[in-house]
Amino acid sequence: MRRFRYCFFPLLALLLFSQANSTGTDLYMPRDIRRAYDRGTRSLTGAPGTAYWQNKADYRIRVSIDPVSRLLRGEETVVYRNNSPDTLRQLVLKLHQNMNRAGAARWSPLGERAVTDGMRISRLAAGGAERKLFPGSEEAQVEQGNLIVTLPLPLAPKASVELTAAWEFTIPVTTGEGGGNPRMGTYENGSMFIAYWYPKLAVYDDVHGWDMHSYDGEHEFYSDYGDFEVELTIPERYGVWATGILSNAGDVLREPYLARYRSAQKSDTVVRIVNEAEASGMSPYLSTSGKTVWKFRAEDVPDFAFGLARGYCWDGVSAKAGDTRVFVDAAYDPASKSFLEVAAEARETVEMLSAARPGVPFPYPAITVFNGYYGMEFPMIVNDGEFPNRILNVYVHAHEIAHNYFPFMVGVNETRYAWMDEGLAYFLPVDVQKKQSNYDHMIRAARGYERFAGTEEDYPLLVPAIASGGDNLQVLAYIKPATALNILRDAMGAEAFDAALRGFITRWKGRHPIPWDFFYSFNDVSGIDWNWFWRPWFFEPGYPDLAISKVNARDGMTEVTVTRKGSMPVPVHIEVTLDGGATQSVSETAAVWKTGATEATFRIEHTAAVNSLRLGDTWIPDSDPSNNTWKKEG
Ligand SMILES: [Zn+2]
Repeated sequence: MRRFRYCFFPLLALLLFSQANSTGTDLYMPRDIRRAYDRGTRSLTGAPGTAYWQNKADYRIRVSIDPVSRLLRGEETVVYRNNSPDTLRQLVLKLHQNMNRAGAARWSPLGERAVTDGMRISRLAAGGAERKLFPGSEEAQVEQGNLIVTLPLPLAPKASVELTAAWEFTIPVTTGEGGGNPRMGTYENGSMFIAYWYPKLAVYDDVHGWDMHSYDGEHEFYSDYGDFEVELTIPERYGVWATGILSNAGDVLREPYLARYRSAQKSDTVVRIVNEAEASGMSPYLSTSGKTVWKFRAEDVPDFAFGLARGYCWDGVSAKAGDTRVFVDAAYDPASKSFLEVAAEARETVEMLSAARPGVPFPYPAITVFNGYYGMEFPMIVNDGEFPNRILNVYVHAHEIAHNYFPFMVGVNETRYAWMDEGLAYFLPVDVQKKQSNYDHMIRAARGYERFAGTEEDYPLLVPAIASGGDNLQVLAYIKPATALNILRDAMGAEAFDAALRGFITRWKGRHPIPWDFFYSFNDVSGIDWNWFWRPWFFEPGYPDLAISKVNARDGMTEVTVTRKGSMPVPVHIEVTLDGGATQSVSETAAVWKTGATEATFRIEHTAAVNSLRLGDTWIPDSDPSNNTWKKEG
């Protein structure tokens, strides 16, 4: 289809270009957010402020699992460093497993075998002093999913404190009889995915202080960064895949599996480390007295999770990411036939994310796709089920892998700003998903969003995500922000958009940006004020609806007036069908609405008479398509 010449009326064109080259910072800011910018921890350029700080927690953990009783037992030593300017008298830790206690506040019901008594802490010490945990103790209080520990001595700025704990919990049942638990637990095939499993320091940040949101099964997470050294004692015959790098491969893998595992780290083609026949044969894993001790190390990661399974196949391959290599592997039930392709597809995903969108090398040295259930991201490992069709399988693997950029490489607060997590993870891998399954998820996003847009529960994206859940969170976290970013990329031009996104990632790698940092950084890096776009799409209620309001067809030239009936600025695309059936089209990005104009007129030159017009395109949302067509009378 030919892109035809057209023009705006001169007044509009004049307004369009009068505001270029100013990086606006006058977006609405709630007072608590404003305080952070006033103190200089954040800046109006969108880069971290000169006074930016972030705390850190390093973990050494020993954990054992008894799959028969579903009991997990752990012991940890955590070193917490206070980089804030504040003296901390208490620490807050997350006990996410308390979401599973009978009577706990949670978003959705659990299966009866997913209800447990939560995290049972048997020992706790801070700064060398035992902390008593009896109900009513002032030294340590459990409030839903938070453990608030009073320190024996206040923790001064730039000081560290050591915390030790011992705990156990019953692993919830996720699938099978009595099952039903989000994101982790035991599966019918005997495998398990273990997450939210250790007392974890909550984030204390410059904007909100301690993050006191208690995990409710719906809203996701917020994590500081740290180094992890984890030693897992697991019954024989189980393989273990985890965040980090396996540091004792020689102690846990028999030959020839050890040699294959090592060669896969350098191989451009998939190595079947444990194939289907071997998976059901003699154990590929070494053991002593019926147990294997697996050791993993991870640096600068926001969390640690792992999967374990007997009889799983294991494939590995190396991916290129900038100047480095990433070890990509898949561990799967031999019954999950689609997983035979997953290592190769995950490799391609890592390479495309690294090279194209966002065009930043994959942030970790390894990534595992573990065949558990549904789809959930963790640093360096994702937990994915098998789905009924290829489109969904490809969608889930690529989406969860893309999460390694957001919220892991860039540590966004998913609990409050779900769109910065899910919206970006939806948006980043669409090209690789299209390549692998011939399906464009941006079209799905536009259709889903336009149906929901402008209804009562379509909140502005700046409303913290904890105010949403279920159906509207699906739209507000995923497809509305992904659609907005897609429309912005069209308006900015792919190159400028991608450069702005890379600028944002580079500035906030390993840090905690909030939405204003994102908007200001895009304005600053591109050198253009995009506030006309941020306001309607992120701050204000509204919906997309363009309409053909006036057509003036003459010989050789037609004027089409398009009215923006809904406030969301969206691109204009007009398909023109001429007498005789030939077609041509005109397009303009959402920037046509930059001045706030609600009408734009397009002049279309043509050789035959215009027969009909159709406004819109598959990737452009429009909540009322009934006003999108025009047909010549007679
Ligand atoms: Zn996601």
